[in-house]
Amino acid sequence: MKIIHVASEAFPFSKTGGLADVVGTLPKRMAQIGHDVTVMVPLYRVTRERYPELILLDTKVWVDVPGGLMEFRLYETFVDGARFLFFEQDELFDRSGIYNEDGEDYGDNHIRFSSFCMACLNFIKHHNLKPEILHAHDWQAALIPVYQKLYFSDIGCKTVFTIHNLAFQGILYDKSMESIGLKGEHFYGAGLEFYGDINMLKAAVLQADLVTTVSPKYAEEVQTPAYGFKLDGLLKHNAHKLVGILNGIDYSVWNPETDENLEFHYHAGDLSGKEKVKRHFAEKWGLDPEKPLIVMISRLAEQKGIQMILDAAPDMANADANFVFLGDGTPDINQQFKGLESELPNVTVIIGYSEALSHQLYGAADFYLMPSLFEPCGLSQLIAMRYGAIPIARYTGGLADTVKDITVDGWGFVFDPTTGHALMHTIYRALSIYGTDQYHDLVQKVMSIDFSWVRSANETVQHYERLSGMDKGV
Ligand code: ADP
Repeated sequence: MKIIHVASEAFPFSKTGGLADVVGTLPKRMAQIGHDVTVMVPLYRVTRERYPELILLDTKVWVDVPGGLMEFRLYETFVDGARFLFFEQDELFDRSGIYNEDGEDYGDNHIRFSSFCMACLNFIKHHNLKPEILHAHDWQAALIPVYQKLYFSDIGCKTVFTIHNLAFQGILYDKSMESIGLKGEHFYGAGLEFYGDINMLKAAVLQADLVTTVSPKYAEEVQTPAYGFKLDGLLKHNAHKLVGILNGIDYSVWNPETDENLEFHYHAGDLSGKEKVKRHFAEKWGLDPEKPLIVMISRLAEQKGIQMILDAAPDMANADANFVFLGDGTPDINQQFKGLESELPNVTVIIGYSEALSHQLYGAADFYLMPSLFEPCGLSQLIAMRYGAIPIARYTGGLADTVKDITVDGWGFVFDPTTGHALMHTIYRALSIYGTDQYHDLVQKVMSIDFSWVRSANETVQHYERLSGMDKGV
């Protein structure tokens, strides 16, 4: 089957969060099982700097924008059989950030990503790529199914749209339809209208042939007012084409047995290396290695439950454990977290984004904290488990699908109320088993559960086959 993915980030070429992990991994697995897979992403400055070896193609595409014609050049590389195509347009993408700079979103993000979507479709059409499936991810690629239905119906493919996080919908205030390559009549006609403004994700839900979210629980939750971000009614109405497919992680990247970022290696059968990784980390950061280490690696955004952490903070000092937070948020939030570090002797806060450090921290962690208010899937808890850290998580979305409490024969610590008190109570519950036989059994258990991409990719392909009528049984 010919499959094309369109997204705004793909690991390792660009990454701000879990979306990149998914788009960097899912296509490779699809290629591995014999499909013809292409991934289309923008060429950011960071990609160019880190991957100067990408091959410039002898072709260009143009997009009609209000000021004239905009030119895109294309670069290419192959990873494990999947083709990655990078769309270069320096005015739009040669910037220090991917979506924002100094905590401030770029004001022309709608133009950047709508032009990119149009360039992708122009390329597909003019190179006669003829995909069976065109799979767009998140609001940045939401116009793919919309443009395809309106302007590119001759690319006779089925469109799939994945909502990785419903909190980000590409809502445009005081922007014209023309600025995103559409006409006034499409405002209502193609379903972009959202309380008088433009909503690109909403239109994608309406126009795509299949809509997926990244966990079964989240697929249910988005149909409720509490989690639906005002689209719950629409999603409920479209439930017949909505499915939740649990994400997985790339076991070739996330493997404590081979991870190049770790000084020592280990597996479920022999955890002596994990102890050494922890000691090494503790020495480097001046922490007592005998104490349990509780780690969180995350965007410091409201979604991730940071208010619960800030509320619980005064109590953290009383816990006989060290806490390490690696993350980045707005300047204000970063400052609040830095404040924790100066007030609480057992809290370390590392502001910034570091892939290497994240691996070392997953390796060193005894427990992994994920108190999200909502969580479409969450990859961090899956990575943490793979590295032998016991999850402490809120009961929501993908966390509810992947972390079960030990009181119901599970392998983690789960709580529901969104309060600092509930979080702290659960942390104490977790700490109470640290070092016991039960704890060691849990570490082995979480390391052995299969959260790999193989399962997710196979399930996604089954949906593609059903959609394009290739599954003869249906
Ligand atoms: P989201 O996509 O909502 O940000 P996920 O848990 O799905 O959250 O994915 C987060 C991914 O980003 C994980 O791979 C995590 O390790 C990584 N990550 C988040 N913050 C940082 C950071 N500050 N430094 C390094 N990696 C990070």
